[in-house]
Amino acid sequence: MAGEPQADCLFCKIVAGEVPATVVRETETTVAFRDINPQAPTHVLVIPKAHYADAAALAAGAPQLAADVLREAGQVAADEKAEESGYRVVFNTGSGAGQTVFHAHAHVLAGRGLEWPPG
Ligand code: 5GP
Repeated sequence: MAGEPQADCLFCKIVAGEVPATVVRETETTVAFRDINPQAPTHVLVIPKAHYADAAALAAGAPQLAADVLREAGQVAADEKAEESGYRVVFNTGSGAGQTVFHAHAHVLAGRGLEWPPG
C-alpha cells in the first residue's frame, strides 16, 4: 500500500535503522542523511519516512509530505551555509534520468559550482 515500508527498499531500511547512515536532520516525517557517494562537498539526501517510489508518487499521494521534504531540503542548505552561494535540489525520476533507489528522495547539492544544464 502507498506509504507502507517495503522490505526490499534500501531507504526504508535506513529509516528503520537497519542500514547505517550519517543523519544530519530528522523530523517526524523525514530524514536527511549524507550520500554515500557524494557528487559535491555537500550532498545530502532528504527522504520521506513513508515509502513512495518517486517524487511524482509522493506529490500525488501525500502532498503535505512532499512539502515537508522540500522544506527540509531548504533547511539542509541553510545548515550547510549554502544559501548565499546557491544550491541545487534534484529529484531523479525514472531509471532513464538516473534514479537508482525507488524511494522518493531529494538530492541537495552545494559547495561547488553547479553547471546548467546538468549531464
Ligand atoms: P538516485 O540515483 O536514485 O537519484 O540516488 C540514489 C542515491 O543514493 C545515490 O546518489 C547513491 O550514491 C545513494 N546511495 C546508494 N546507496 C546508499 C547507501 O547505502 N547509503 C547512502 N547514504 N546513500 C546511498
